[in-house]
Amino acid sequence: MIKVFIAPRRYVQGVGVLKDIGKYVAPLGKRVLVAWGPVVSDLFADHVKASFKEHDLELIPFKFSGECDRGQIGLGIEAAKAGNAQVVVGIGGGKAIDLAKAVAMAIDAKLVTAPTIASNDAPTSAATVYYTEEGIMDGWDIWPRNPDLVLVDSQVIVNAPARWLVSGIGDGLATWFEAEAAYKKRAVALAGGVATQAALTLAQLCYDTLMDYGEDAVRDCAQHIVTPAVEQVIEANTLLSGLGFESAGVASAHAIGNGLTGFDECMPYSHGEKVAFGLASQLCLDEDIEPYERLAVFDFMVAVGLPVTLAELGLADITDEQLMDFAEAMCGPGQITHNHVQTVETFDLYSAMVAADQLGQERRALAGK
Ligand SMILES: [Zn+2]
Repeated sequence: MIKVFIAPRRYVQGVGVLKDIGKYVAPLGKRVLVAWGPVVSDLFADHVKASFKEHDLELIPFKFSGECDRGQIGLGIEAAKAGNAQVVVGIGGGKAIDLAKAVAMAIDAKLVTAPTIASNDAPTSAATVYYTEEGIMDGWDIWPRNPDLVLVDSQVIVNAPARWLVSGIGDGLATWFEAEAAYKKRAVALAGGVATQAALTLAQLCYDTLMDYGEDAVRDCAQHIVTPAVEQVIEANTLLSGLGFESAGVASAHAIGNGLTGFDECMPYSHGEKVAFGLASQLCLDEDIEPYERLAVFDFMVAVGLPVTLAELGLADITDEQLMDFAEAMCGPGQITHNHVQTVETFDLYSAMVAADQLGQERRALAGK
């Protein structure tokens, strides 16, 4: 049994660090391609330009469409080669970051990720998730190295709508349950081995942190203020969740969350929101989950505004047949639904989703939300 643990080389989190980006990037190289979408470029270009100038760095801007598809990645690689970039920086959400990773790996440059939202665990990981131009998940790559620097500006994170922080909580909340399931199976994680104690501990800390500080952090984020609770949750969503999922493993929560991208109705919902329903389902799948813990997680998700029902993901009208077909696809060969100690058959997964949906409806009704 080989254990593997991987991580970024440096993680920096705090108020105002993006304004100082040049200071953090300068040790990595002089010519720097910055990949960002149109909105992020408009918001941060002035800060980045000023900081790069102060630290004598050459900015090679690359404005991509906002979708991490293979065509956009190709354009990024061309721009990076033309500018002879030594460093590639992705500023934005998960897609800007995943695109930057693919570009950096193609030209063997240093890699920096600077998330502007804490909605997913992409910033620390060595993986790129590909999408089609239409936004449907289209496979992934695991790169041989993680980012050289992860730069997380807490003020930038809380300036974004609180929904993104909530989404990251959905993604992060699943980390421990998936890690535990995958470890019991001794499943090989994305890092390329079985989980270390370190990865399992970080995954559990991620869960405990979110349950302790999640509600406060969401309230504070909605006011666009940085508090100790916000800092704890940003770290959990970004660092702990990222290290945990990558080096300890994933299971049915992500299988369902990723699979839901195939439904048009789910398009408006984020990765973390879909994973939240995946987690709700996984909690109704694994027999080792204590009933009180299942309820605690459901109630927490209701409290912070994560989807716990199919209707909340736009799937109020999904038929039993469609759900069964979906479960069958998710239980196919090589799917991560097999990262459970028990055998997960189509009907098990279908039943778990139906059970989660029903329990979710009840808990939401009880909470009056
Ligand atoms: Zn995820």
